Amino acid sequence: MKILLLGKNGQVGWELQRSLAALGQVTALDRHSSDYCGNLQDLDGLADTVRRLQPHIIVNAAAHTAVDRAESEPELARTLNTLAPGVLATEAEKLGAWLLHYSTDYVFDGSGSQPWTEDDTPAPLSVYGRSKLEGEQRIQAACSKHLIFRTSWVYAARGGNFAKTMLRLAKEREQLTVINDQFGAPTGAELLADVAALALRSARADPALAGLYHLAAAGETTWHGYAQFVLAQARQAGVVLKAGPDAVAAVPTSAFPTPAQRPHNSRLDTHKLQAAFDLTLPDWQTGVARMLNETLPTP
Ligand code: NDP
Repeated sequence: MKILLLGKNGQVGWELQRSLAALGQVTALDRHSSDYCGNLQDLDGLADTVRRLQPHIIVNAAAHTAVDRAESEPELARTLNTLAPGVLATEAEKLGAWLLHYSTDYVFDGSGSQPWTEDDTPAPLSVYGRSKLEGEQRIQAACSKHLIFRTSWVYAARGGNFAKTMLRLAKEREQLTVINDQFGAPTGAELLADVAALALRSARADPALAGLYHLAAAGETTWHGYAQFVLAQARQAGVVLKAGPDAVAAVPTSAFPTPAQRPHNSRLDTHKLQAAFDLTLPDWQTGVARMLNETLPTP
């Protein structure tokens, strides 16, 4: 089986290179790839890649993910997050291929305190959120065999992430200040990639599983709670910190103004996905602790 993976070096793309390898022969591209075009800005090149490769599965992990920058470059965000997924969907449909794509809790306005379900009405607050929502809609309109996973607060062991930033700051400063009025679940790229492989396997056996699903780790926290958890784990592992979990001050989002407005409620209801694919999503703490275990320097 031939699999085309786009965005191979992103947080999720990197892990997909691992998880998809067990399903088939993976052609993994990034925007600099030369044999095939993997640049989402080049819509013709992207279509040509699919036509030449004729994959059975396309997995798109590439996106314009710089949420604040998207506010000042809406056209680029739209090309990458709306038009490119639309092209992939059209080409996938022609081949009868599956298209797996990631979307975001930022399609919602963050109101209320209930986890969002797939039936709730999106109302994005940002250019990024709008471009991702329109990407979903293009895929739904053009490609019958699609899996769209809306996720939230993604982290990975590879590269920079929120936890690593908190650790660095806690070594430098006596006190940290972190937002405590945005709620969600930190979700590991590893988990997203593993679920993708499992879901694709099920969906290939039962095409009725095509659709839009919410996918995030179980439980919920705030960025403040997330930071405290990270520092507590680090202390426990023997890392010397100037600021421990008790030295993390809680502030509202308004304390850190950003160009893009973020949703306060990023909770995602994942019952549909767990039931459809017979999967269990672990607590967010399990994945974060594991990532810290991999990345913390041994004392
Ligand atoms: P990353 O930012 O880690 O990866 C995105 C990838 O897209 C990067 O490798 C980037 O390449 C690539 N990319 C950017 N522009 C182009 C282009 N023109 N052509 C080809 N590739 C390009 O994102 P994540 O892995 O975290 O995100 C994966 C998916 O999950 C995305 O769809 C995102 O919208 C969604 N998501 C992410 C969340 C998060 O918190 N990160 C939350 C919710 C959803 P380069 O490194 O060269 O720029």
